[in-house]
Amino acid sequence: MVRNIVILTGAGISAESGVPTFRGPDGLWEGHHVEDVATPEAFQRNPVLVQTFYDARRAALRAVEPNAAHLALARLDAEWPGELLIVTQNVDDLHERAGSRRLLHMHGELNRALCTACGAAPDWTGPLIDAPSCPQCGVPSLRPDIVWFGEMPYHMDAIEAAIARADLFVSIGTSGAVYPAAGFVSVARRAGARTLELNLDMSAGTPLFDEARHGPAGLLVPALVAKLLDD
Ligand code: NAD
Ligand code: ZN
Repeated sequence: MVRNIVILTGAGISAESGVPTFRGPDGLWEGHHVEDVATPEAFQRNPVLVQTFYDARRAALRAVEPNAAHLALARLDAEWPGELLIVTQNVDDLHERAGSRRLLHMHGELNRALCTACGAAPDWTGPLIDAPSCPQCGVPSLRPDIVWFGEMPYHMDAIEAAIARADLFVSIGTSGAVYPAAGFVSVARRAGARTLELNLDMSAGTPLFDEARHGPAGLLVPALVAKLLDD
């Protein structure tokens, strides 16, 4: 019987909302090589490019809405009587706008800034390119609160503890190429959980799952949630 569920989501769950995925057909993120916009070295080398890039991603959030997959997970979150944790690699805010509460952003959030002077992480919905002052310490040293390649993902202890207790681990719309998230399926299997992948097509991780279902998240996720809540 399924009681404890961990759900990992990636860029694919937001694709039907109109948020481009990371490794689209061209292997670029919104026209950029990831090493030019998503590493600490890129930020040191060209802070204007990196701030402009994330300012544009943050502004673009205002034009998109949660889709049927985000809404279905919010319903599961509201109605599931057992333990549930939604772990997202996404930096958009579509899970919370759909109503999910039991949610952790392991790669940070577009709508949050990080002060490199004092470590404060204030909510932030405007641009950062004009070097605003940190609301905590006053120093104009805010960067996007995004976990870049080479940086430590957030909430790893809580995530690993939840996976250790999980009976069901579901991965939705992620390429299985970015670690440590790509390794969660193996941790879940070792902990005795059933593992299920929902993705548009085969991913690098597909062979690691007990079962894989291929199709758009907007169809597959509501069907899974209906089944889980019916059983
Ligand atoms: P990815 O872009 O590497 O992979 C996306 C996966 O989703 C692919 O396997 C693709 O086949 C699948 N997919 C595409 N459309 C789908 C759909 N409609 N339904 C189901 N699956 C679909 O994404 P990732 O594995 O999450 O790694 C991306 C990294 O880039 C993360 O660290 C994330 O922070 C960042 N990113 C975030 C966003 C966002 O917040 N929405 C967008 C782009 C990139
Ligand atoms: Zn500060």
